[in-house]
Amino acid sequence: MISVLVNGADGRMGSEVVKAVIADPELRLVGGVSLSHVGEDIGTVIGIPYTGLCIVDDLKKALQLYQPQVVVDFTTPAAIYKNAEICLQQGVNMVVGTTGLTAAQREQLGKLATAKEVSIFIAPNFSIGAVLMMRFAKEAAPYLPDVEIIELHHNNKLDAPSGTSIMTANYIAEARQAAKVEAAVDRTQESLAGARGATVAGIPVHSVRLPGYVAHQQVLFGGYGELLTIRHDSLDRKSFMPGVILAIKKVQTKIGLTFGLEHYL
Ligand code: NAP
Repeated sequence: MISVLVNGADGRMGSEVVKAVIADPELRLVGGVSLSHVGEDIGTVIGIPYTGLCIVDDLKKALQLYQPQVVVDFTTPAAIYKNAEICLQQGVNMVVGTTGLTAAQREQLGKLATAKEVSIFIAPNFSIGAVLMMRFAKEAAPYLPDVEIIELHHNNKLDAPSGTSIMTANYIAEARQAAKVEAAVDRTQESLAGARGATVAGIPVHSVRLPGYVAHQQVLFGGYGELLTIRHDSLDRKSFMPGVILAIKKVQTKIGLTFGLEHYL
């Protein structure tokens, strides 16, 4: 049995993780952290049967109290670096779904994990379909180097562009470079700044935030008289759970940083 503490336990993602952990016979939920509902039973807060575990608001104290083997973090871009530092300093393995960490921050956390001989796994997207979408985009890029990304999320998402779009753009850029192909020069003059979106690794990324969306992405490739669109839709947050559970079970297999669910597939 792997003991698991969920940070952000009453959030949209965290509450799904709590349910998925409870449902898995190889995992044991030992605690949940969030800023509100402190002292209330996790089950009552997220609308499942009583768990006997109360929500606490101090991650460091929760680690000492519950001694989890793995902490799963789905909190906020502003909190994640500090949260990860606290866990790794205490010698606790981490599975991070929270987005917003920079490459430099990931590297720092990887070094800390290695020094403490623990593991940190970070994935901008835990859905299997999204991992395949990125893989297919990487495959297409050498043949169709002209590409733009549209990512669409619910309007409560705090960061933009999404971690998945950044990861996809980086993969495409690497694949184009390896194949020694380049996109056509974009000669558009923006009459309004931002009209062509943000640029990630040389690829325009457009972020849509609207109620009704969960997590969606389209990778648009343009060729001579043809278009290829690779599209992925997460319609329910349950779509991320098989990936999260897999990561909890595999995270301790490698000391240091592992970045991206594809490493576990
Ligand atoms: P959410 O519903 O707003 O939940 C955030 C949770 O974090 C809440 O429980 C909140 O507590 C808690 N929290 C905030 N600051 C905290 C802190 N300093 N310490 C401990 N807990 C804290 O957000 P969400 O939609 O679940 O998304 C969470 C993160 O996951 C975002 O970064 C999002 O982009 C990312 N995400 C990743 C994936 C993936 O596959 N990797 C998929 C979807 C979302 P209170 O409610 O008490 O304030």
